[in-house]
Amino acid sequence: MSLVLRAWPRPDRGALFVVSGASGTGKTTLVREALRRMPGLGFSVSATTRAPRAGEQEGRDYHFVDAVTFQGMVDRGALLEWAQVYGNRYGTPRQPVTDAIERGDSILLDIDVQGARQVRAALPEAVSIFLLPPDLQTIEARLRSRSTDDEATIQRRMAETRQQLQGAAEADYVVVNDDLESAHDQLQAILVAELCRRSRHASLVARFAG
Ligand code: ADP
Ligand code: 5GP
Repeated sequence: MSLVLRAWPRPDRGALFVVSGASGTGKTTLVREALRRMPGLGFSVSATTRAPRAGEQEGRDYHFVDAVTFQGMVDRGALLEWAQVYGNRYGTPRQPVTDAIERGDSILLDIDVQGARQVRAALPEAVSIFLLPPDLQTIEARLRSRSTDDEATIQRRMAETRQQLQGAAEADYVVVNDDLESAHDQLQAILVAELCRRSRHASLVARFAG
C-alpha cells in the first residue's frame, strides 16, 4: 500500500474527510503522508491565532492570523467550524471546503474533537476518522519528542488529551497509530474505500445502466 495512488473514480460530490484525535496521536504526520500518497486529495488549511512553530509555513500549514482577524472571520460566518484549543483559536475556512465538494474534489481536515463534532452537525455526509494512540504514555513521549512545546504546555495538553480521547465514540472509523507504516496504510485504505463507494458514483453507474 505504499505506492502513490494518482487516480480513483471521481465522485459526483467530493468526499469530506475529517481526521481528528487527541494532540500528539499523529494527525499531522498521518495527514501529510496521506496527501503525499494521494496527490489528488485537497487539504483544508486552517486559520489559527497560534504562533508558527519552526518549519511551519504560512498558507501551507496554517493561515496565521491575529485574534481580531480571527474574530472577524467568526462574525462573518466565514468558518465552517472553530474551536479554542490549548488557549489558541483554530478554524476551518468554509468556502474552500464547500467549493471543493461541489466541484467533486475530495478534501481532508485535520481538526480537534470539538471541531469534528461541528462539521458532522453542519455536513452530515462528512467521514470522520479518529486516531488513537497505543496508550497514554506513548502520547506523552511523542509530545516530548516533538520538543517544540515547553513542560507546562505538555502537562496541559496531557490533561486535555484524556478528555479528547472520548471523541472516538462518535467516529466512523478508528486508526491506531502504533506502528507508523501500518497506520499510514490503514488511513489510506479508509480513504480509498470511501472514494470507491457506489453511492458516490451515481453518474458513473448510470452511464452503464440499461
Ligand atoms: P498531532 O498532529 O496529532 O498533534 P504529530 O503528527 O505532530 O501529532 O505527532 C506528534 C509526534 O509524534 C511527532 O514528533 C511525530 O513525529 C511522532 N509520531 C507520530 N506518529 C508516530 C508513530 N507511529 N511512532 C512514533 N512516533 C510518532
Ligand atoms: P497544533 O497547534 O498542534 O497544530 O494543533 C492543535 C490542535 O488543533 C490539533 O488537535 C489540531 O487538529 C487542531 N486544529 C487544527 N486546525 C483546526 C481547525 O481548523 N479547527 C479545529 N477545531 N481544530 C483544529
